[in-house]
Amino acid sequence: MQAVPSELLAIDRKKRVNKPFFELDLRPAEERVSDFDEVVIPFTPEEAQYQASRCIHCPDPAPCMLGCPTHNDIPSAMWLIEQGKFVEAARIYHNTSALPEVCGRVCPHEQVCEGSCVLHKSGEPVLCGQLEVFALAQERELDPYVAEKAPKTGKKVAVVGAGPAGLACADYLLKQGHDVTIYDAHPAPGGLLVYGIPNFKLSKDVFFERWNDMVNLGVEFVGKTYVGKDTTVDEILAQGFDAMFLGVGSLIDAPMEVPGEDLPGVYEATDYLIRGNVGDDILPENAERLPDLGNDVVVIGGGDTASDCLRTSLRMGVENVTCLYRRTEAEMPGSAKDRKLAKQEGAKYKFLTQPVQFIAGEDGKLAAVECIEMELGEPDASGRRRPIPIEGSNFSVPATTAVKALGYWPDEIIGKTTPDLETHKWGLIKVVDAETGQTTRENIFAGGDGVTGPDLVVTAMAAGKRSALAIDKYLKKQK
Ligand SMILES: Cc1cc2nc3c(=O)[nH]c(=O)nc-3n(C[C@H](O)[C@H](O)[C@H](O)COP(=O)(O)OP(=O)(O)OC[C@H]3O[C@@H](n4cnc5c(N)ncnc54)[C@H](O)[C@@H]3O)c2cc1C
Repeated sequence: MQAVPSELLAIDRKKRVNKPFFELDLRPAEERVSDFDEVVIPFTPEEAQYQASRCIHCPDPAPCMLGCPTHNDIPSAMWLIEQGKFVEAARIYHNTSALPEVCGRVCPHEQVCEGSCVLHKSGEPVLCGQLEVFALAQERELDPYVAEKAPKTGKKVAVVGAGPAGLACADYLLKQGHDVTIYDAHPAPGGLLVYGIPNFKLSKDVFFERWNDMVNLGVEFVGKTYVGKDTTVDEILAQGFDAMFLGVGSLIDAPMEVPGEDLPGVYEATDYLIRGNVGDDILPENAERLPDLGNDVVVIGGGDTASDCLRTSLRMGVENVTCLYRRTEAEMPGSAKDRKLAKQEGAKYKFLTQPVQFIAGEDGKLAAVECIEMELGEPDASGRRRPIPIEGSNFSVPATTAVKALGYWPDEIIGKTTPDLETHKWGLIKVVDAETGQTTRENIFAGGDGVTGPDLVVTAMAAGKRSALAIDKYLKKQK
């Protein structure tokens, strides 16, 4: 429900619809490729108030709220920002979101809140995402949020996986007074927010400020613990936990299965992004900074991960950075917004191109990628036209570094090491109730990419919160 103030009933919607739109200010492309800082120039208070005043306050439930997987009360936040009540606006987001400053930056807004905005039908939507970033930054500066916490219940919950799903689950349970310990294979929390999404999309400082708030709520973090290998789900539960949430993501890089994949200079996207974007203090064990990448980097794939790898390579000073994709731009699954930024920054694209072999130079390192030209046939199961190789069209692309960004698979280890925890589809955790994330074990819940396969930060977060509500109910019944 929107908190609709009476003044809103008197607004002139027609006048608001006709207010001119101003694009987000971005740092110039040539400046931003020289560092890993964020790309968008934040709103000034005046710009934010103007932008928020474009909201026409649709009747409840507003389409933007319905379009947001966590159902943020965006219209109320817009009204408060317009009135200059920035901290109050930020508080609105905390009611529904555990990571509002993260979602403001990384959500594909054109697919969720901004995509649902009625102004979007005839022109440009209200820029809700950047307004969320603005309100949260103002709050952090003027009056940092301190969450209310219920008295301790004496109940203990273990969370496996410190990505958006696990963090959203932990955040809600901590506020209900339960003790929460998060286990993760990585040395630091964040999941793909830290060990995937590059700094120029989401600065690590922004994430760790929010993490600090969770530390103040009392969360315990046990890093460098790969559940299924270093310990098991049942060994953790046996330490006195009343329930568990599994937010383990889908983090295994899809293989390409072509000759030469193991040559020096050929990388998997996750390894590449971690080694290019994560600071020495939180690098996983045995991971080293990327070496000199040479002059020619090719990135194989058409999703957001490919865009992130292209843009990371450009920031590492590589001269020629090229994306190889087997269909055309129209079939690319990644965000058009990120692709536009990549192109502005100098990334080139070669469509209808399928690598078939990585070729070594005399020094034994990668020197080229042999490719074959493709043409599009009939649509396949995904609805996109199937790429078909054109016989005899092989050609070679010079490459000192190649990055495979072909998508992600779930890790089967939790299913394989936990009796009676059922998995399906290559290891995704099976839930018997999609709303609560209840698994085939009574006190184990699951959510996020480990249940759905690769999706979004906001959908993982929403799933973690839904499971937290169910776990809280389950724990209260135990009394
Ligand atoms: C490069 C990249 C860029 C992306 N960019 C965007 C974007 O801009 N916007 C967007 O909305 N989404 C983006 N996504 C998708 C988004 O990051 C994920 O959908 C989201 O992080 C999923 O959250 P999660 O909590 O389910 O899992 P994750 O974030 O993957 O976290 C899972 C955590 O579980 C831990 N873990 C896994 N297995 C075990 C185990 N056995 N024992 C202990 N710990 C374990 C992992 O170490 C990890 O920390 C991107 C994904 C990638 C790969």
